[in-house]
Formats: sequence, C-alpha cells, structure tokens
Amino acid sequence: MNVWSDAFMEGLRPEQPLTVSEWADKHRRLSSKASAEPGPWRTNRTPYLREPMDCLSTTSSVQRVVMMFAAQTGKTESGSNWLGYVIAHAPGPMLLVQPTVEMAKRLSKQRLESLVTETPVLAEKIAPSRSRDSGNTMFSKEFPGGMMLLTGANSATGLRSTPCRYIFCDEVDAFPLDVDGEGDPVSLAEKRATTFARRKILLTSTPTVKDFSRIEAEYERSDQRRFYVPCPCCGAMQWLKWPQLKWENNDPSTAVYQCEVCGERFAEIHKPAMLRKGEWRATAPSDGKTAGFQLSGLYSPLGWLSWADMVDDFLRAKADAPMLKSFVNTRLAETWEEDFASKVSASALLERCEAYPQGRLPEGVLAVTIGVDVQGGGGSAGDRLAVSVWGWGRGEEGWLIDHQEIAGDPCKAEVWKQLDVIVLHEWEHAGGGKLRADVVAVDSGGHATAEVYQYARERQAVGVIAIKGQSQRGKPPIGKPGKVDINAKGQTLKRGAQVWPVGSDTIKTTLFGRLKHNDIGDGYLHFHAQTGEEYFEQLTAEKQALRYVKGFPVREWVKKPSARNEALDTLVYAYAGLNRLYSRYDRRTIWDQLEARLQNAADGGAKPRLRSGKGKAPAFATSW
Ligand SMILES: [Zn+2]
Repeated sequence: MNVWSDAFMEGLRPEQPLTVSEWADKHRRLSSKASAEPGPWRTNRTPYLREPMDCLSTTSSVQRVVMMFAAQTGKTESGSNWLGYVIAHAPGPMLLVQPTVEMAKRLSKQRLESLVTETPVLAEKIAPSRSRDSGNTMFSKEFPGGMMLLTGANSATGLRSTPCRYIFCDEVDAFPLDVDGEGDPVSLAEKRATTFARRKILLTSTPTVKDFSRIEAEYERSDQRRFYVPCPCCGAMQWLKWPQLKWENNDPSTAVYQCEVCGERFAEIHKPAMLRKGEWRATAPSDGKTAGFQLSGLYSPLGWLSWADMVDDFLRAKADAPMLKSFVNTRLAETWEEDFASKVSASALLERCEAYPQGRLPEGVLAVTIGVDVQGGGGSAGDRLAVSVWGWGRGEEGWLIDHQEIAGDPCKAEVWKQLDVIVLHEWEHAGGGKLRADVVAVDSGGHATAEVYQYARERQAVGVIAIKGQSQRGKPPIGKPGKVDINAKGQTLKRGAQVWPVGSDTIKTTLFGRLKHNDIGDGYLHFHAQTGEEYFEQLTAEKQALRYVKGFPVREWVKKPSARNEALDTLVYAYAGLNRLYSRYDRRTIWDQLEARLQNAADGGAKPRLRSGKGKAPAFATSW
C-alpha cells in the first residue's frame, strides 16, 4: 500500500475534485482514428452518459455501476473517460478485464494508445511504450499514484492480481462462466477490490440470452434506472420503447415515435431537445451502492444511429431468428427469449392433422423407423411399451404412421412378442409396394434394461438397436455404440449387445424448432387424421427450463409435473433411428437410394427382406 500512497503524494497536485463528466468535458479529446466525431469530448452530445459516468467519480457514494447499453450509444467512450479520469485525476490501482486476453491486448494497443496520445493531460502521465523501463507494457500501465492492469476473463492468473481500487469489467456477457475451474471471473475480479472502502466497480455489456445474461442479472439486482425524456407534444416524461416506434409500408424513412400518453406521433428531429431535458429515474428499490442503467439505440444521438436505421435493421432481421436476436441484443439492449416449447401447443398441433390414414405410408415416405419407450416398475399409468412408427422422406420430412401402447410387464416375454408383430410388419405404401422398419430404437435407460439388451441382441438382423438417451447439450443425435454383456439373468454373454447413445437434448431442440414451422416441406412433421389430443399433450409435455449449476443457469429439457411424455420420447428415438441410417448409406445419395428401393418394391421386384445376419450385407439395400 505504501508504494501507492508515496506515489500519490508525489504525483498528485491539489486540485478541485471533478466528476468524470466534468473531467472529460475539460480534458478529453477524441482522436480522428477512433472517433467519427474527432475533437473535444462533449457530454451534452450524449446527456444520458453524464449520470453513469458521475457515479464513477470519487465524489459519488455509488460503488457499483451497471450499464446495459445498446451499441452506438457511447458506452465505450464513457468507459474510456473513466480510465482517463483515474489516470489523470483520481489515481489508484485499476484492473481492466476484457472477455479474453487477446481482446485485452487489442484494447491496449488500440483504444488505450489513442486515448492517451490524443489527450494531452494523459500523455504527460504515461510514458510511451517504446521507451525502456517506462513502466508501460502491453498489460500494465504505470502512472503517478497508480497503475492500470489489463487482463482477460479467461485468465485466472490475471484476475488474481494485486488488490485494485477500481475494477472495470467490459462486455461481461462474453465472459466465460468459469475460469480455469476457479469460478466466476467477475467475482474473482471483484475480490481484488474488497479491501478498498472507496472502491468503484463498472460492469458493462450489451445483453445476450434471457436468464443467461450476466448484465441483465446485475441490472435486475440494481435500482434499474431508465432514461425519461419529455414528449415534445404534451411534455409527459417517459422512457423510449421499441413498440412505440411506428412506420408505414415497410418504409424505414417513415419512422416516428408515438407518445404513450397523448398518442401524438413525432419525428426524430426532436431528439436532441428531448435528450437535453432527460433524466434517469430508478424503477426499483436501491441498496444505496449499486446504480443500474439500461439504454436502447432509440436514444442514439442524431447522426449516429437513426430510428430509420433501426427500422431498416429490424425489417431485415425479423424473419431470421439469429439476426433478430442480434437486433434485440445490440440495438434494443434487451435480452432475447429462447423458448421453443412455449410456442408449440397441443391444440395448435391438433389442427394440423391431415387426411392420410393411420397405419399406411403416404406418398413421400421412403424409410420407416420405430421408437420404443419402456415403462415399468409399477408406475401409475401401468407397465407397457409405447411404440411410435415414423415415416421419413427427403429433407427429413416426417409422417407419424402409428402410435401404439402394448400393455404388460416388460420383464415378461409376452409384451416383446407383441412388439415383434409391429417390428416385422410390412407397411403398405400409397404409391404401391411395402416397407418394413429400417431401424427400431428401444430405450434401455428406463425399466427392464437387461430385457431390452437381450431383445436388441437377438433382433439385430431386423434393425433393432438398444439406445440410451443423453441429456447433456451438444451431443450428436446418435453416437458410437458401447458394448454391454449381461442378459436378463445377470449372466455374462459371449456376444454382448450394443447400446447406442442418443443425444436427446439435441434432438428435442431440433424437433421443437420443426414443430414450430407451418410450411410443408423439409423438416415438416405430419400427423394422420386419427391422431388424438392425448398424443399431442404428450408430445408437448416438455419445455426448456433453467437449472443452476454452481450458481450459473444451464438450460435443459424438463417434463411438466405428472405429465406423460412417451409420444415425445418415442419420436426422439425414431429420429435417432433415422440418423442411424445415415451411417449405413452415403448421406449424399441416401434418398435416391431409398427411392430406388421403394420403386423396386412397388414394381413387384425384390420385396424388402430381413437382413441376413450380422456383418453381412442385407439384400434390400442396393448399396449397403
Ligand atoms: Zn405526448
């Protein structure tokens, strides 16, 4: 600590204490390289930056400042003003954290370099990095009374540096959840400041996904300030919201804002006057230490980002989810809600049922897969197998062919005999010919595991596979099989069964995306006329929810309480079965090959036959 206080006495001349905005208005210069508007900084150009900046002043009692701002609102420059203020006016040790070490390096070379060289009072304090022993390196800048350390949120070592009075975490939504197994990088960084009573912490970011956004979580813990501006027509104070922006005939140049109070619409030309008369108002109780600010691109000053630009961006993005997400995050400074399941309702799917008959393959179907879910152990709905038969065509267009339940104890042979009937059934095709199931995927993860292994082992020749669902995100629809070698009596088998891992989470995300689509074609899922409401209730019985792991939200699929979900599980398994086919065929020509096979069957040629045995090429696939 003595190092700092000695240098402090030496380096700091007594001076009238300024706020950050006052200091910036007095000393800060914007370079022509880094700024579209070079010259002296003027807080009046972006009046909404005054209060967040001044909360970082030594005269303010606020300790933590949270800025959830849109791009092109001056957020970056307000951070730079604080850096300049610390170096020149309120020196102390400071830690500057970027999402990665690489980004910290870039910030050091570009933003800091121009901040210092263009602003004379800063150039006096920091020696050029070229000179030897200047105390100025890529990751640390010394100045009288203080020092600035730069690091990335991906480096635990960097975050564990010396105590720092000032902490600046920039773009926190891009920080990793956990750094080197040591926990949350923001908490690690903030620990550096705990010994300073008059510490200042700045967290900034554009937000990302709802419930996963750090900056939104921090904003929600703050006093949630909004920038209120007066309506030019009636004078009513309000904060600007995207739904109030109106335009005509998809023409961005017609964009106007509709006052929430008087209903009058006004043009953007009024914005400078509105911003000047604007004020931040807290919308939640304060803890007295944390100030939170949210600001959308609607406030961006004239000449930066216009309302017309925003409408134009929106019109380009609205049909494309990733682009719309980016618009919502960077232009509106709001989080993006990702919830497929909530948009897919049982009643909407029921309306989608089509006229093709149950149990018969409609035109377009080229392959059949079956998913089997095993229920047992005396549950309320009883012991049974749930069986879904799905037909698949080009572009993974899918048709529900049949869904049945076989009641009975899966530990007894009887239910499996009944399953054999479905497995070996030859499904009639609307275009002539018949098809048997190519793959039958039976879940081994629930009940009667040993029976499932045995059933799959004995029926490899007719495409039966034992599968096990994996709930982790990012797994492939079907993975590489593992060996298991016990039978129903717990005895070791010579030729054990194989179990195929199925990426349930991945498949559910894919399928729910597709259930949302209403355009017939690639990826569309069809349901026959007899499909009942109960089936759709089961199909939509899961939704994505959040679980917290070490305090961080992780998204996963969960079943609604007490709901049955076999219609969904069996579809997931049937889809995994389709993916199993991809490893048997050349994926580029699979649909052509399957079409040729069907044509052959329809012409009365070789009927689909059983696979002749393990390791041998079955007769019914032309290029197996
Ligand atoms: Zn009004």
